Amino acid sequence: MFENLSERLSGVFDKLTKQGALTEDDVKTALREVRVALLEADVSLPVARDFVKAVQEKATGQAVTKSITPGQQVVKIVHDELQHVLTGDDDPGALKIDNPPAPILMVGLQGSGKTTTTAKLAKRLKEKEGKRVLMASLDTNRPAAMEQLAILGGQIGVDTLPIVKGEDPVAIAKRAKTQASLGGYDVYMLDTAGRLHIDQELIAQAAAVRDVANPRETLLVVDGLTGQDAVNVAQEFDDKIGVTGVVLTRMDGDGRGGAALSMRAITGKPIRFVGLGEKMDAIETFEPSRIAGRILG
Ligand code: GDP
Repeated sequence: MFENLSERLSGVFDKLTKQGALTEDDVKTALREVRVALLEADVSLPVARDFVKAVQEKATGQAVTKSITPGQQVVKIVHDELQHVLTGDDDPGALKIDNPPAPILMVGLQGSGKTTTTAKLAKRLKEKEGKRVLMASLDTNRPAAMEQLAILGGQIGVDTLPIVKGEDPVAIAKRAKTQASLGGYDVYMLDTAGRLHIDQELIAQAAAVRDVANPRETLLVVDGLTGQDAVNVAQEFDDKIGVTGVVLTRMDGDGRGGAALSMRAITGKPIRFVGLGEKMDAIETFEPSRIAGRILG
């Protein structure tokens, strides 16, 4: 995901570390190149600007130009700053699922990977935490999506709420709650309908479901390949529905990765998980140090 950014930055840093003594102008030039590299990776402008400013201030404060290994100092400051912008939740993987049955609401646009992510997280809860999970699809407009969740449930050995034709999403959410209580489940996951764009109907439906389910977690699934759009979508969902975290999917793809760097700074919401493929195990918690390491190679 970060190949281009990584390559660009290592080009900048190679020059710096080879150079020995550095002037303030050398540092400024390097940081200008860092800024361009961030923007090309689709990091949003204010985030890129603040990033470079913070590095510049630290570099000046630490008298980088007078140190014995100035280039390496700059690299270290950039690394720390990357980790800083990536920092989200202290324990991103810890879903709030006390007081069983705990509802988890999954929201996002169609095609973002919402259904896949619902199943991946259910599998993770089952295998890592020994939880009994019930999944329910609320996508009444797309019978195929409901089927898809049932198929994934079969594959990973997680129960899905039986499909009842003609039921509306709020009724399904209520039935899921009853079923989860009666069946002794620890968690029930509500996979809401997606649309290609955020529209009023989508938001109204998700809000109605949220109001009856009172979810412990509302996770927004966004496609990491869409860059700044992913951040805009997150902002809008959070404004209208309120989310407790973001799952960034397709981080295995060849997108530019900017969404990962901008998400927290722009929306204030932590990235909790990243999707790394189509397989049911292809999900990881969002660890800033690991991502910063990937970017800096
Ligand atoms: P939904 O419409 O939001 O529910 O999206 P789906 O869960 O149906 O996913 C759409 C497509 O994206 C499917 O083919 C998934 O296998 C694929 N997908 C989901 N997450 C990832 C991911 O992290 N990486 C990759 N490469 N593909 C993914």
